[in-house]
Amino acid sequence: MVLAQLGGSISKALQRMSNATIIDEKVLNECLNEITRALLQADVQFRMVADMQKNIKKVVNLDDLAAGHNKRRIIQQAVFNELCKMLDPGKPSFTPKKGKPSVIMFVGLQGSGKTTTCTKYAYYHQKKGWKPALVCADTFRAGAFDQLKQNATKAKIPFYGSYTESDPVKIAEEGVERFKKENCDLIIVDTSGRHKQEVALFEEMRQVSEATKPDLIIFVMDSSIGQAAFDQAQAFKQSVSVGAVIVTKMDGHAKGGGALSCCCYKKSCYIHWNWEHMDEFEVFDVKPFVSRLLG
Ligand code: GDP
Repeated sequence: MVLAQLGGSISKALQRMSNATIIDEKVLNECLNEITRALLQADVQFRMVADMQKNIKKVVNLDDLAAGHNKRRIIQQAVFNELCKMLDPGKPSFTPKKGKPSVIMFVGLQGSGKTTTCTKYAYYHQKKGWKPALVCADTFRAGAFDQLKQNATKAKIPFYGSYTESDPVKIAEEGVERFKKENCDLIIVDTSGRHKQEVALFEEMRQVSEATKPDLIIFVMDSSIGQAAFDQAQAFKQSVSVGAVIVTKMDGHAKGGGALSCCCYKKSCYIHWNWEHMDEFEVFDVKPFVSRLLG
């Protein structure tokens, strides 16, 4: 189930509830069960969905609502509030400041969209007057440096990397040092990925992080991986201190729910939605997102 379908299913459930002549426990339960089914089909974590249902039932106590109360509106508002609460990633653990050098390290599995996202992140800030720079510390994937170089050149962003050096820690350190000297205020370090979570990858992330002392570590996640997103985010979080999440490939036929689960795995996270084009990079804002989701 893609996100648009998820929103459609929740809206339909609310509409059906709204059309009922009398709003009683049975109608409310049917509505909540329908919403629960839609969220589970979209791959949102079971625990989160169960909590949401419990919270709505706590807020909407039909027995206590005096006659004259607009039960339909109260239920709709409770669903909206709970969806917002569930998806609210909270405040970012660190917000870079223009003119003050910040190191941002990107981590994630191979193919998640790290390299693409690094350039988008740099370009997004460059357009707002920042002085970003890109460091390619991915020595694992052949062609990673070329890809970053190509992206960086196209966007006119300075970059650093090596065809010969095989130590990612050394490259990351050198790159960060160089761009600090050049007064860049957003030094972005792209790191290696693997196809699956491997001990070696996590150890490498730990070492790069130790050497570059990033102000913020952003976990890049492919939205199409569904519920596995939650476990993956947790695994990365155990090795390095992830402070934000960027969800990629929301333009595809991804279920999206996994991504939704991921954005609340820790409250101190924020999220970007990005698409294939450089200038369609958007900061996640929970209320407009839920409003849009429900149509
Ligand atoms: P990395 O291995 O994590 O660095 O991943 P890449 O940045 O090389 O991306 C892997 C593939 O996914 C490339 O073909 C990208 O063009 C593609 N890609 C990255 N982000 C997006 C996105 O938001 N939407 C779509 N459709 N494709 C993406």
